[in-house]
Formats: sequence, C-alpha cells, structure tokens
Amino acid sequence: MPRIFSGIQPSGELHIGNYLGAVKNWVQLQHEFESYICIVNYHAITIPYAPDELRRRTREMAVSLLASGLEPGKAVVFVQSDVPEHTELAWVFNTLTPLGELERQVQFKDKASRQEQVMAGLLNYPVLQAADILLYRADIVPVGEDQVQHLELSRVVARNWNARFSPDAPYFPEPQPRLAPTRRIVGLDGQAKMSKSLGNTIGLLDPPDVMWEKLRPAITDPARQRKSDPGDPEACRTIFQLHRAFSPAATVAEVEVNCRGAKWGCIDCKKSLLTHMEAELTPIRTRAEAMQAEPGKVDEILADGAARARRVARDTMAHVKDRMGLDARD
Ligand code: SF4
Repeated sequence: MPRIFSGIQPSGELHIGNYLGAVKNWVQLQHEFESYICIVNYHAITIPYAPDELRRRTREMAVSLLASGLEPGKAVVFVQSDVPEHTELAWVFNTLTPLGELERQVQFKDKASRQEQVMAGLLNYPVLQAADILLYRADIVPVGEDQVQHLELSRVVARNWNARFSPDAPYFPEPQPRLAPTRRIVGLDGQAKMSKSLGNTIGLLDPPDVMWEKLRPAITDPARQRKSDPGDPEACRTIFQLHRAFSPAATVAEVEVNCRGAKWGCIDCKKSLLTHMEAELTPIRTRAEAMQAEPGKVDEILADGAARARRVARDTMAHVKDRMGLDARD
C-alpha cells in the first residue's frame, strides 16, 4: 500500500471547514493508503500559546479526528511530540535547507507580519514539516491549496538529501500533493475562508440548535433582497457550497431550481441544509460524546498510534544516521 502522511494543528474541536477540506478526505483515503495522521503540536508552539490550552486542544483534536471516522485499526493517529524522531530529522534537514528558501515561504511572511517578535521556529516550520512527511517516506500528502508551497520545500529537501547521501538509490521519495475534493470552504460571513479566529465557522460537534443559530443569519446571494427575487446559487458562496458538500445530488439540483425560480426563500434552503448536515454530523457527535466520557480510551489509541509511528520513524533515523556518519558504531 502506498503511504500518506498528513498533519493537523491541535486547534481544539474541528469546524466543518477542517472536516470537509481535510479530515473527511483522510477518512476515505485510510482504506486505500497506509495512513499516518499526526496532531502536530510542535508546530503549534511556533507562535505564542498557553500550555494547558494546548494540552486540552490536542485531546479535543484527537476526539474530533477519531469521531469523524479515522479508525485506529487502519490509520495511525498520533501526537507529534510522542515521536521524538520528528525533531531529530528536522535538525538534520535544517543543515541542508538554504535560508533563502525559508524566507521566501508565503506562510512565513504572513504569520511573521502578525508577530511582535519572530522566533526561529516560525521560520523553520516548513523544515519540521518536511521531516514530518519524510520520516514516514510518504508518497502522497493530502494538502490544502495553501500548503502546496510547503510541500515543494519537502521535495527539495528530499532531493538534496538523496543527492548528497544516497546518490545511487534515492532513499526519500519526493512526496506528491493530493488536493481534497472539497477545496476552500467560505465562512458564514460569505467573505473569507472558514476560520475559528474569524468566528465564521460551525463546530463539527455543534448540536443542531447551535448549528441553526449560526446558519440562520449566514450571508447568501447578496443581490437577493427578498424571497420573490430570483437568486444565484453560484453567488451564494457558503450555503450553496455546503449543500454541495452535505446534501445528495437531487437536493442540490432542487436548490438550484428553487433558488433561481424564487420558489424557496433562503430560510427554506437553510432548513433543508440543516437536515442534511444533521444526518452526517449527528453520528460524529454521538461518537465524540462517548469518547469524551472515556478519556482513557483516547489515551490508549494515541499511545498505540505513537508506538506504531515510532517503529517506522526509528528505521528511517537509523538509515539516515548510517548514511550521514552519525551512528557511533562502525
Ligand atoms: Fe443561497 Fe439557497 Fe438562498 Fe439561493 S435560496 S441564495 S442557494 S440560501
């Protein structure tokens, strides 16, 4: 089976943008690929944070991932700091990565512009990301569009290491990106990508009444002022997009006809969306509640995931150290 690696920041409970743009895809891919899904808490400390909050969010993220359908018997779900080889390999790669490559990274420039003081970890973030991926010698990395540049750096690092230390038989594959079928999910404000910091999301585990409170005022086609105005679903960047993600094809077709023909008001349309969202998300919420009631089980799954990840990680590091003259023995 080819291998995939994907990482997610421990931002706490998932929102539906994360779910549709990444996690739902991983749940499908776990049946086709040997899957390593990592909660990347070392990445989370490259900007200011509170330790207790990070601990809580890491656990919440684990619950959200497992409840979404990642199966511990299939995917290896683990926390980055439980596998020390990530930072070990990152140091090795730091010695092979030109500074200019890192300074050019768009995400670095963006995040650095929002910090009073920029720490070296923020600059080196993509090197750790390269280590995350290459530690498992992953062939494929499911990514969002904004992560393609980071993945390109991983490919450069793999090429550089292979050229220098394994020229005859490349050891690290150059990982290929795989974009999720559902791309950018626009927030409830209709303006920006769904993001917790912008407050324009619906939580994956929100109960139906909370989902409705958020859906009801969500921005729709801005040109549609009243129910009798024909609407344009393509201009309705959030609700119609969510219908496409959650509703069956027949409902999506019905929305198009009823919106363009002014037969449905936006509230009717949102009620229909809520029904389909509930159908998909209620089982996830139920599984999450069961896991929250048994925290020891989540710990066991993460410990088992880390042990399985370390088996691969140790092999990779042993090979790297051997080729680089870093092993103490002859
Ligand atoms: Fe959007 Fe539905 Fe309203 Fe059309 S009817 S503008 S698709 S919410």
